[in-house]
Amino acid sequence: MQTVADQDTAGAGPAAQAASNLFALLPSVDRVLGWPGVAVLIEGHGRAQVTDAVREILSTLRQAAADGSLAPRQLAESALIDRLASTLAERDAPRLCPVFNLTGTVLHTNLGRATLPEEAIAALVDAARSPCALEYDLATGGRGDRDDIVEGLLCELTGAEAASVVNNNAAAVVLLLNALALRREVLVCRGELVEIGGAFRVPDIMRRAGAKLREVGTTNRTHLKDFEEAIGPRTALLMKVHTSNYAIEGFTKSVPEPELGALARRAGVPFVVDLGSGTLVDLERYGLPHEPTPRESLGAGADLVTFSGDKLLGGPQAGILVGRAALIQRIKKNPLKRALRVGKLTLAALEAVLRLYRDPDRLAERLTALRLLTRSDRDIRAQALRLAEPLGRALAHWPVQVTVEPTLSQIGSGSLPVDRLPSHALVITPTRRRGAGLKRLQAALRDLPTPVIGRIADGAMRLDLRCLPVEREDNFVRQLSALTDH
Ligand SMILES: *Cc1c(COP(=O)(O)O)cnc(C)c1O
Repeated sequence: MQTVADQDTAGAGPAAQAASNLFALLPSVDRVLGWPGVAVLIEGHGRAQVTDAVREILSTLRQAAADGSLAPRQLAESALIDRLASTLAERDAPRLCPVFNLTGTVLHTNLGRATLPEEAIAALVDAARSPCALEYDLATGGRGDRDDIVEGLLCELTGAEAASVVNNNAAAVVLLLNALALRREVLVCRGELVEIGGAFRVPDIMRRAGAKLREVGTTNRTHLKDFEEAIGPRTALLMKVHTSNYAIEGFTKSVPEPELGALARRAGVPFVVDLGSGTLVDLERYGLPHEPTPRESLGAGADLVTFSGDKLLGGPQAGILVGRAALIQRIKKNPLKRALRVGKLTLAALEAVLRLYRDPDRLAERLTALRLLTRSDRDIRAQALRLAEPLGRALAHWPVQVTVEPTLSQIGSGSLPVDRLPSHALVITPTRRRGAGLKRLQAALRDLPTPVIGRIADGAMRLDLRCLPVEREDNFVRQLSALTDH
């Protein structure tokens, strides 16, 4: 980089002369910090942050002056203050910002899966705000166990003898394998060697947990006798993994849970089921496809069942283990349990969500995830028709056309992989330059104060409205005006 001094001694031309004049006009950090317009920024963001941002901006401007790309108006006090304010606002914007999930996938892992019901939000705010009896027995004043907070509810809702909670279902599976099958064999049907998005693969998890996977049967067909023949002195567990995110169809056979349960009992080894999603109620009651429940698995002879807290259950991220008291006891003694435990915020939210399940009649109203999953197509269509007009108006200057079309939502997070829910979408179709236009539109939607995440398919941007709650509709419409200026 050339310096001002080099340019002077080199007897540079008029451009360099202008640049050196601009250098002289660059204010010092202290001067900027003393401007009355900056005082309010210091009050809002703190002196250290403002000083840091001023240094960064001045250094960029100094570089621009050296390159000859600096315009004098950029150095005006008001221009500098505006720039400082927007730099600070950008730095302070939360990275974990709320978005509109209009992807059509209700339990979207990348968008945080289940949104919590108000009851759970209130509970976790309370737990955050003050000390709480997390591991404290209020009856005796002695030490408590954090699992006690939800164990009673979990046993009541699943019919289990005991329960424990960890960070997520992947953790629950690792913990159970490590506690019950270290250096021994776990029998799993070949058709169930699942990979869940985000690097959860049954064979890898098994190895990391220190257990030995023994594959049984074939990809499409596994018989009870395959399991019988595989059982031996090194067998620690029979395991069934729910094929959450795919379906094997055609010439298939798998061993029903009751038969596996009976075989495990004969062999004297526990039978464990990784259910993945695991709703606590029969979803058919709400007009949704059936998804196996922990109660069903336990009833069919499973000794332990694991499932996620933030899939169909509709609660916070958590992994839940329910089943026989003796096995849960062994699991709780494993040092990994301490490493994988949940915090008070999770337990507060989970407890509140589980309580909602005690009143199944009102569950579809109160549990947000279930409310979204059971929204009627008619209701979504009416909303789409209401919103098409303001969206069309906001995009009036874009070469696009807005229509309302039927679509199919999916449940997501590997739940009910082949079932789709009838819904309606706002469809934005470019009238020219398809590819580039769509990318620009997608970026503009992401750039809104509350980013709108849709899905591009068949040459159009599709905004499935299933997950736009009516109470957030105003907020959605209000920010659309920002698209007009794009
Ligand atoms: C989703 C899923 C997991 C992982 O659960 P997380 O809560 O995401 O850790 C494990 N097994 C099955 C079968 C699943 O569907």
